[in-house]
This record gives sequence, C-alpha cells and structure tokens, in this order.
Amino acid sequence: MSEVAVLDAQNVVVRYPGSPPVVAVDDVSVRVAPGETVALVGESGSGKSSLARAVVGIERIAGGEVRFRDVPVTPLGIRRRTVGLTGIQMVFQDPSTSLNPRRRVGDQIADGIATARARGAAGSTVEEWLERVGLPAQVATRFPHQFSGGQKQRIAIARALAARPSLLVADEPISALDASTQTSVAGLMRDLVAESGAGMLFISHDLAVVRRIADRTLVMFAGRVLESGPTDRVWASPQHPYTQALLAAIPEPDGAGRIPLAPSTNDRLLWSEIPPVLG
Ligand code: ADP
Ligand code: MG
Repeated sequence: MSEVAVLDAQNVVVRYPGSPPVVAVDDVSVRVAPGETVALVGESGSGKSSLARAVVGIERIAGGEVRFRDVPVTPLGIRRRTVGLTGIQMVFQDPSTSLNPRRRVGDQIADGIATARARGAAGSTVEEWLERVGLPAQVATRFPHQFSGGQKQRIAIARALAARPSLLVADEPISALDASTQTSVAGLMRDLVAESGAGMLFISHDLAVVRRIADRTLVMFAGRVLESGPTDRVWASPQHPYTQALLAAIPEPDGAGRIPLAPSTNDRLLWSEIPPVLG
C-alpha cells in the first residue's frame, strides 16, 4: 500500500437530474496501482461509464473524492481535450470517437508522442508504436477509413499509449470488435500498460476476457459494487449471488461471452439487499 495509486476513487456518487433523479453511481470506491489492471464488469446500465467519466473528471461527482497520483481530480473545468495533459488517457468503445477521420493515422499517433514530450516523458517513434500494436510502419500515411474496426482500435490504443499515460481508462474497448480479435486486443492493452508501468481501469461486460487480463475485478450492479477482489478469487469462488449468477451465465469459449441476464424483479431486490463482498 506504500505505492501511490494512479487512481484512488473513494465513495464516488454520480447523479443525473430528473424526476426522480438517477443515482448512476452510488458510493463506489476503486483503487488502481501502477502496473495494475482493474476490471469493472456489470450489465448495461449498471453505472460503469458514469464511473469512468467521473474518474477522468469529465463527469461531475455528487459525492466522494477522486485522486489521480495523490492529486484531487477536479470534476469541473477539466475538458475532454485537456485530460491527456494530466497523464490520463481514455479509449472508448467506438474507435471512431478517438480518431480524427480527416488526419493520417501516423500524425495522430505523433500527437500522442507530442503529449508525452510536453509532460517530459520519453517518446517512441510512430513506427515503433504501429509495430507494437501489430501494424506495419507503412500504414502511417493512411486515413482511419482504410482500416477495419479492430485495426482502428489498435491505432486508437497506440495513440493513447504513445502519450505515456499513468492511467488508461478503457470503456468497453473491445465490444465493437470481431469476436476473433477481442481477446488479442485486450491482451495487447494489458501487456502494453503493464510494460509501461501505467494502471488500467478496463470496463467490459465480457467476463471471459476480463478473467484473462485483470489483476482485480469489481462487479457493479445498479450503481454499486457488489463484489470485488483478485480476479482469480472472484472467478474461483464468487461470494455474492449476483456474481454467481453472472458467472453461471457465461457461455462456453466458442460463444460470444455476453451476459444474457434478464433478472427478475425479485432477483434485483435480493441482490441490492445482500451486503457487498469487498476485498
Ligand atoms: P453502463 O455504462 O454500465 O451501461 P451508464 O453509466 O451508462 O451504465 O448508465 C448508468 C445509469 O445512468 C443508467 O440508468 C443510465 O440510463 C443513466 N444515465 C447515463 N448517462 C446519463 C445521462 N447523461 N443522463 C441521464 N441518465 C444517464
Ligand atoms: Mg457504458
């Protein structure tokens, strides 16, 4: 615990106005150490993206505190475009969100390298980054539309990591990819992040992939973390009935690995009332 966490979020609350207001994140704490990959799993609507936006400072928090390398992340005033300068990078589900369609991919990776230099971090070359994500150096002069979805996500990952972030927040980075490339892209992210000593918050509803890459796993349901712990422990002996239901719903490896849960109202009430199992 002596090591300063790259992310230390305590008792975070995110609320959206409405009648009644939506409490999307309800008292959630998460810590990510350098070199560590922490997964956030849970079905659609459980609050994963709201928490991700809150920890990078692009969503206002209604309670709690977020610290990035021991410095409070001020929730207001940090614009999406300036997030990178703080040493935090995000990768989104749709790589088109991260890439500019009108600029050559090599130039966009060069932007990441320039961000690293602006923060005094050593940078590799565009060619080296392309190679690291499994693409030939010659593609640097191409535009995003000339690539497949999986290749575009590799480029978005190269651009984000070229900035040498201390923390990478990846919100469903593999969900839009072909099933055949999901595992390799997730594994690549994990390896590159661990290699650079950064921490990663990896959001996914794909537990089969999370099991392979995450050091620790947090299970979210209805805005709360119902269970957390080392991934091996959560997988081998899930303690909370919701986690047990999630794991039981995972198809065999040849399936898409989605959570086909349609919980009954009774299940939902039960899950919310059972105390969380945190570790
Ligand atoms: P997830 O990423 O796990 O699917 P979200 O964080 O997107 O979950 O959503 C959590 C809850 O907050 C959902 O009920 C969703 O409808 C609601 N929500 C998300 N974003 C907004 C918003 N901008 N305004 C109002 N409600 C929102
Ligand atoms: Mg989401």
